[in-house]
Amino acid sequence: HDEEAVAKAAAINADSGAPTIIDKIVSKEIPSTIVYEDDKVLAFKDINPQAPVHVLVIPKCRDGLTQLGKAEQRHGEILGQLLYAARMVAEKEGILDGFRVVINNGPSACQSVYHLHLHVLGGRQMKWPPG
Ligand code: IMP
Repeated sequence: HDEEAVAKAAAINADSGAPTIIDKIVSKEIPSTIVYEDDKVLAFKDINPQAPVHVLVIPKCRDGLTQLGKAEQRHGEILGQLLYAARMVAEKEGILDGFRVVINNGPSACQSVYHLHLHVLGGRQMKWPPG
């Protein structure tokens, strides 16, 4: 079963603090389709889109934010910038009237990449609750 396989794969993957694929995307060693960029934040298209619009919004500097659960008060400014960037992505992609922002935190939420990222999803009718 596909969904079970995904959940299992995510469950054995936990926060090790090791570099992630996102470092290579930030350094442009791995190409990505950039949707929004400023000095602190990068937004690029997800390689395995789950909706017509599926963009990842990340802090360029991880600074301990392997996952939202590691956030500290000092991260408040970047956390706000990420949400604002998500809104800019929604506008650029033409989905301001309906979009979803998701953060998967940890194995039981199927987080697979340990560099904080917001998923911006839209372009179709979204269902609730999510799986
Ligand atoms: P997570 O499961 O919430 O950690 O989300 C990680 C996301 O990164 C998944 O939606 C993947 O499809 C996406 N992803 C993994 N590698 C790449 C890549 O090289 N480029 C763009 N997206 C990627």
